Amino acid sequence: MSNSPLVQATILSPNHSGRRNQKITKIAIHHAAGVINGRNLAGVFVPRARRASANYNLGSDGVIVLGVDESNRAWTTSSSWCDNRAVTIEVGNSTRGPQWLVSDYVLNRLIDLVTDICSRNGIYPCTYTGGKDGVLQKHEWYKSTNCPGPYLGNKFPYIASEVNKRLRGNKTVSKPKNGLYRVRKSWSDVKSQKGAFRNIENAKKCADRFGLKVFDANGKIVYPVGKTIDQLAREVIRGEWGNGEERKRRLTQAGYDYYAVQKRVNQLI
Ligand SMILES: [Zn+2]
Repeated sequence: MSNSPLVQATILSPNHSGRRNQKITKIAIHHAAGVINGRNLAGVFVPRARRASANYNLGSDGVIVLGVDESNRAWTTSSSWCDNRAVTIEVGNSTRGPQWLVSDYVLNRLIDLVTDICSRNGIYPCTYTGGKDGVLQKHEWYKSTNCPGPYLGNKFPYIASEVNKRLRGNKTVSKPKNGLYRVRKSWSDVKSQKGAFRNIENAKKCADRFGLKVFDANGKIVYPVGKTIDQLAREVIRGEWGNGEERKRRLTQAGYDYYAVQKRVNQLI
């Protein structure tokens, strides 16, 4: 498990339960109920007496401060069930109540952060269902509170949609139309199906294992598309994908299997 590379400072809170006991599948977005910069916001959760914390503190100045390692369960949402599953984010407001506005700049930083959390934790799509079954979570569902406030609360569908646009920034992922990704030899060859998955990454793994393809609910092939492992390996050798961690990140974000490509590179050179 890792923390976001978007973090600009680390001001750890002692208020957490240690390692979370669930895989990260949710993101709880809170508002700070105050106009406060990132460092001061993180500082609020440093005293033990506060008995609260957040994984990330995004200040009204747009600065992102790590408060609790992502691998740990923060005390943010008044719910063990939610906080064990959710990466939690406190967001600084640009005005006080009753509107509790958040600036466009901070909202954009929030979308960057949520996109990064989804990307590193294999969450796709980022859903807002209006309920606990979705990815985005609201504090007010777990406790009598006005958090995340009327403004930020109304932005949840927009946040989910923007995050998904960014996650889809590559052509290998197509939007699921409330259906499953099916792993088959061809769309018409129903009998060749080895599995059907809600999560495209799981579908890709299955396809790789059996040498099959992934189709979306409309029968459109979504994986593998575009370049073959061999083509990619040759591009890597020509220096088109950078080196080391950068190469790994770019190939992975483009939807390719970094290890398969690297293996072919090693065979070729
Ligand atoms: Zn809250």
